[in-house]
Parts: sequence; structure tokens; C-alpha cells
Amino acid sequence: MTKKTNSNDAVSRFLGVFRYSAVAMRIVWDTSAPLMIAMALTTLIVGLLPAAIASVGGLFVDAVAGALGSTGVTADSAKTEALTFVYIEVGLVLLMTAAQQANTVCQAVLRVLLGNKINVMILEKALTLELAHFEDAEYYDKLVRARREASSRPLSLVTKTFDLIRNLISLIAIGAFLFQFSPYAVLLLSIAGVPAFIAEAKFSGEAFRVNKRRSAERRMQIYLEMVLTREDGVKEVKLLQLGKIFLQRYIDIFLAIYKEDRSLVLRRGIWGYGLGIIASGAFYFAYGWVGFAAIAGAITIGQMTMYIAQFRLGQSAVTSSLTSVNGMYEDNLYLSNLTEYLEHEVPEQSGSLHAGPMPEDGIRFENVSFFYPGSDVPALDNVSLHITPGESLAIVGENGSGKTTLIKLLTRLYTPTHGKISLEGLPLEEWDIDTLRRKIGVIFQDFARYQLIVGENIGIGDSDNLDSEKEIEIAAKKGMADEFVRDLPSGYKTQLGTWFKDGKELSGGQWQKVALSRAFMRNQADILILDEPTAAIDAKAEADIFAHFAELTANRISIIISHRFSTVRRADHIIVLEKARIMEQGSHEELLELGGQYATLFKLQAEGYQ
Ligand code: ADP
Repeated sequence: MTKKTNSNDAVSRFLGVFRYSAVAMRIVWDTSAPLMIAMALTTLIVGLLPAAIASVGGLFVDAVAGALGSTGVTADSAKTEALTFVYIEVGLVLLMTAAQQANTVCQAVLRVLLGNKINVMILEKALTLELAHFEDAEYYDKLVRARREASSRPLSLVTKTFDLIRNLISLIAIGAFLFQFSPYAVLLLSIAGVPAFIAEAKFSGEAFRVNKRRSAERRMQIYLEMVLTREDGVKEVKLLQLGKIFLQRYIDIFLAIYKEDRSLVLRRGIWGYGLGIIASGAFYFAYGWVGFAAIAGAITIGQMTMYIAQFRLGQSAVTSSLTSVNGMYEDNLYLSNLTEYLEHEVPEQSGSLHAGPMPEDGIRFENVSFFYPGSDVPALDNVSLHITPGESLAIVGENGSGKTTLIKLLTRLYTPTHGKISLEGLPLEEWDIDTLRRKIGVIFQDFARYQLIVGENIGIGDSDNLDSEKEIEIAAKKGMADEFVRDLPSGYKTQLGTWFKDGKELSGGQWQKVALSRAFMRNQADILILDEPTAAIDAKAEADIFAHFAELTANRISIIISHRFSTVRRADHIIVLEKARIMEQGSHEELLELGGQYATLFKLQAEGYQ
């Protein structure tokens, strides 16, 4: 029983090498069925022709030998016959070259189409993912790796599979010819060739499993490479002299991996050599056998030439099959990663409603708790609050107290673990997600700095008005960006960032003004959320922004996270978060009167300014 399971295991491991060939074929088929058929047909032709060419070669030798030993009319007809074989062989060779060329062209075209198709598949999937997926290191790593070799790996696997099939066809054709010489020769050669093939498949499977296990080490290496070579890491790497330490870590990981690889390569080499000798021994045995058969007069010289040519073809077909199997594991690694990434189930964003029954009810949190995946400490613990349209809310609290998490839940980037959040009297999960997101304008602390022109950087706050210069300018004035943008070399058309030619890099505060303007761009939104929007902005600009903030957000709900009490105190309602819970809440005056945490912090900051 155990033995049977073991052998089943061995077989499935052996076949494991080919598991992803079907996946790759399906992707290629979906990319272009005609090209795949053309590739299959040309592969078939290229596989069958060598044996046929070799056998025509044998017939030619016989015809020449016949002409040598004859005179007169017989010699003439033998010459014509020999010439005919030359023509046939030339025809076959031309056909084969054409098929090979067509095959190469198909591959080249497919490679481009396939690269694009897979990248689009990866990006489409990325659009359906939730924020949590991007924060899940393992899954995110799959995305990155899937993108890296999208244009080469699947086609490479298909090409190798086709190569294998072609070689197999060649071998069958050769076997058919050899069979006429002796069925035992066919049997001998196949028995001698199979072990090498099985060993190759086994080692290829092992290399696959070893490499798959290693993804964490690989990820660390890639991360180190990134820190050492990217612009945003380089400042600290230089000043803190981290270069040598990181490089050493990189090398250490390599050495550990290398040790394991070396052992695999060694074993593979030794086995390959041993089994290769057996196969070659059988080959030369058959070679001698054919020679003796010719001497004994059992076959003609032409047949002998043909069989020897077939042997050579057969041997090179075996060698090239082994090479294909050998390289397959890397393509399999890629495809297993791609499949896992694409097949990962993402829960549907289920809601379909576009409005709530009580627009005046605003936002309600009822006993909301939230745990990040894999964490057993709540990031929000039993939070309840209520904000109505026209009200402003400020959230205060130490780093890590749960402020940003609250915003992520409100914007449905995450779903609460317990409790309920509703907008206009309708639970968030019943809202159509696009409608919900259109109702909210938000800038996060770590807002995006798009490498686009300034105008677009602001305009994308409202994709319907992306190109509307008027709207962009109005938003820029509200966010205090207008003034410095006008001084840029090409005004609103100035390219930002360092990726592109003539890109202009902004200061932290300037970027923040751009982001703030982007939030103001969303003037249809009912809720405006600013997560530490002014941390890098100078005090005067901040004062200017908030001086007319109330008027900018009239009839809307505004939520501000800030450490500056000059900003916070303007809010109608303030909550103080501590360790995931609401500790205090009320208006600025109420909280001062309460004399708790808020009052202490406020006084501390006020003293700092005296
Ligand atoms: P704040 O905005 O108040 O500084 P956050 O809401 O960002 O705090 O974080 C609250 C807590 O949740 C912190 O303890 C933090 O470590 C944890 N946390 C934040 N983001 C994640 C995340 N993506 N995965 C796991 N834990 C997180």
C-alpha cells in the first residue's frame, strides 16, 4: 500500500514538471489561437522532416552505389534516380527551413502579444484587490514577481513544451525507421534513454521545490538591491554608512542559496553523466550492430548510412529534450507564482445602492472595532461617533492610536471586524463602492506624488474634470498651491518629479499644497478628509488655508487629523484617541474644561509657543 502511494507520488512528481505546460498553453491559446496553431503545425513539420531527410539520404547513397556497379542504360537510370533523390532532399530541406523560419516568426510575434496580455491580466487583477492585499507581503511579492518576467516565461515554457513534443515526434519517426532494421534496436535505445530523461525531470522538479521555498530570502535580496540602488534610499545609505552592512547581508543570502544549489547541480551532473554513458553505450552498440549487418550483407550501404544518420538525429533529439526539461523548472516557478496570484480569491465589494434613506444622518460609527489581519491587538476598539453634514470633526491622538485606521474604515479600504459604520443611514457595505468613493475626498499623510504635470496632479482629484484648467486653478487657490505653481517654469504645465526630462522636484510643503488642492478639487464630495494635511506646510500658509476652511466645507462633513491645535481647535467636534479607544470627546471649550488629556496637550503646545 505504502509502496503504491510512494510510486504514485514519484509519478506525480515526475509529471509535476509538465503541470504548468497546460496552463501556459491555455494562456497562449487565449492570446492568439491562429498563431498557436501555426506554431504547432510548424513544430510538427520540423519534427518529422529530419528522419525523412535522413532516409532519402540513404536511398541516394544506394542509388549512387547502384550506378557505380553498372553500365549502359542501367547506369543512366541509376543516375536519374540519384538525381531525383537529390531533388527530393533539397525540397524537404527547403520545406524544413521554411517551417523553422515560420516557427521563429510566430514565436516572436507571440512573445510581444503574450507579454502585453499577461501584464494586462496582472494589472486587471490588481484593480480588484483590496488595500489589505497590498499590505500582505507574501501576496504583494507574487504580484511583483508575476510582473517581472511576464513577457518571457510563459512563451518560454510553451516553446520548451513544443520542443519536447517535436523531439518526441522525431524520435517516434526515427523509431519507425529503425524498427525496419530491428525491433530490438528500438527497444534497446528507448530503455537506455529513458532513465536519463526521468532523472532530468526529477532534478528539475527538485529545483522547482527548492526555489519555491526560497521566496522570503529572494524577497530580502531584492529589497536590499532596491535600497542600495534607489534614489529615495541613497541619502540614508550614504549618511548612515549602511552600504557595507546591506551588501554583506546580500552576499550572505547568496552564499546560503549557493550552497544548496551547488549540491543540486553536482548531483544532477553526476547522475546525468552516469545515465548519459549508459545511453551512449547503447547507441554505439547499435552503431556497431548496423555496421556488422551491412558487412554481413543483411542491409545495403545506403541503409547503413540512413540508420547511422537516424541514430545521430535520435541522440541529438534526446539531448535537446533533456535540455528542455532541465530549463522547465524556472518557467514553472514563474507560472506557479502567476497562477497563485491570479487565482487568489478577492471578496466582492457587494453593495449596489447609490443613496441612503437619511441624508441628514451623516456618518455613524456604532461600536466599531478593527484588527489588522494577523494582529491580536485592536487598532480600533469599540469606537462610536456621529457627525452630521455641516459639522467638522478633528481627531487627535498619539502615533499609532488608530487615527488613520479610522479613516481607512470610513473609506472602506478595510471592513470593521465588529460593529457598524453607516453613511446617510445606510451601512457602508450596502453602498455601491464607486458611488461611495465619489462622495469622499481624502488626502492621506502618505499621499501620492504623481510624476505628471502639476495641473494633472491637482486635476486627478476629480477625474471628470482632469483637464479643466478653471476648476484646477480654483482648487489650487483653496489649497494655497496657486501662488508657487505660477512661479514654476511652465506654470500648471510643469512636469513634476525626477523620472522624466525637465521634471521639477518640489519641497515637502509644496507637494502637500498640491495634495491639498487635489482634495479641494473634489468639490462634489460630501465628505472631505484630511490626514495631517499641513504637517509640512509653513504656519502662515496653514493659517490662510484654515481661515476660510469652514466656508469651503459648508454643508459638508470635514474630518481632520492633525497634531496642530491651532487647526484642531476650529473643529466643531474633537475626539481624542488613545490606544485604539476614544478617551475624550467634545468641543474645544468642553475638552479644555474637562481638564483631561486634551487640555494637557493643548497647554503643552501653547506653552511651546510662548
Ligand atoms: P495613527 O494614524 O494614529 O498614527 P494608525 O491608525 O496608522 O495610527 O495605526 C494604529 C495601529 O495599527 C498601530 O498600532 C499600527 O501599528 C497598526 N497598523 C497600522 N497599519 C497597519 C497595517 N497595515 N497592518 C498591521 N497593523 C497596522
